[in-house]
Amino acid sequence: MKTLVPVNGQDILSEPRTDGLPFNLSRCVIFFDFDNTITQTDVLDEIIERFAIDDRWVLLEKEWRKAKIGSKECLEGQLQSIRVTRLTLSRYLSTVSLDSSFKQLIQFLRRNKIEFMVVSDSFSFVIHQILKHHNIRHIPVYANELRFQKDHLIPTFPFFNQDCPRCAHCKKIHLKNNSHKTTIYVGDGRSDICAAECADIVFAKDGLLDYLRKVNKPCIEFKNLGSVLSFLEQWKGKQMKRETIEVSMPTY
Ligand SMILES: [Mg+2]
Ligand SMILES: [Zn+2]
Repeated sequence: MKTLVPVNGQDILSEPRTDGLPFNLSRCVIFFDFDNTITQTDVLDEIIERFAIDDRWVLLEKEWRKAKIGSKECLEGQLQSIRVTRLTLSRYLSTVSLDSSFKQLIQFLRRNKIEFMVVSDSFSFVIHQILKHHNIRHIPVYANELRFQKDHLIPTFPFFNQDCPRCAHCKKIHLKNNSHKTTIYVGDGRSDICAAECADIVFAKDGLLDYLRKVNKPCIEFKNLGSVLSFLEQWKGKQMKRETIEVSMPTY
């Protein structure tokens, strides 16, 4: 189904994959990035800055930002400079704040039986510790893995895709696995590009928004998860009244 929706006098093409059926939230699956999408800051960057014993991470970060190296090479190099025990890292993670609407958003998703998951190029340990601290449990999380050897961190990358030069965890695989559903992606940065490019509906901010504008991929700009929740509530309301849901994603 293609819907041509006029917004601000412009014709905007939105193209959610609906297999010929009307857009239905219960046939959607929502993928959330973690750092700077669910959290208010980039937690992994903060961990590296805080616990690195030298400055080698700075050069790696610059090379990654210029797309000279992928996330896997960057993370492997950066983690070699980190010295932190499991206990110290856990304590630090207990200070991390979440987007103020995240809890309300997952309550809405659960109440309405809308499938969702967290997909991150950070580490499962980091994400689970933060969520646990906020009393949020039973959320599916797909991310890189971490092992502690005293104060050294040993990463592994179960979702590394040989064909992707960009990601350590190429999140696209989870969208492909759900391609029979309408896929909604919410993210902010470079690690979200592969997933956003193949999602039916994209909520984007910051670097991801800039990138999608550059390549003319339609998306919905969001400032925080409160605005994502508002869209979902609006769509749900229309669905309840059996009204047509028009998802308009502007290109810029
Ligand atoms: Mg992010
Ligand atoms: Zn990728």
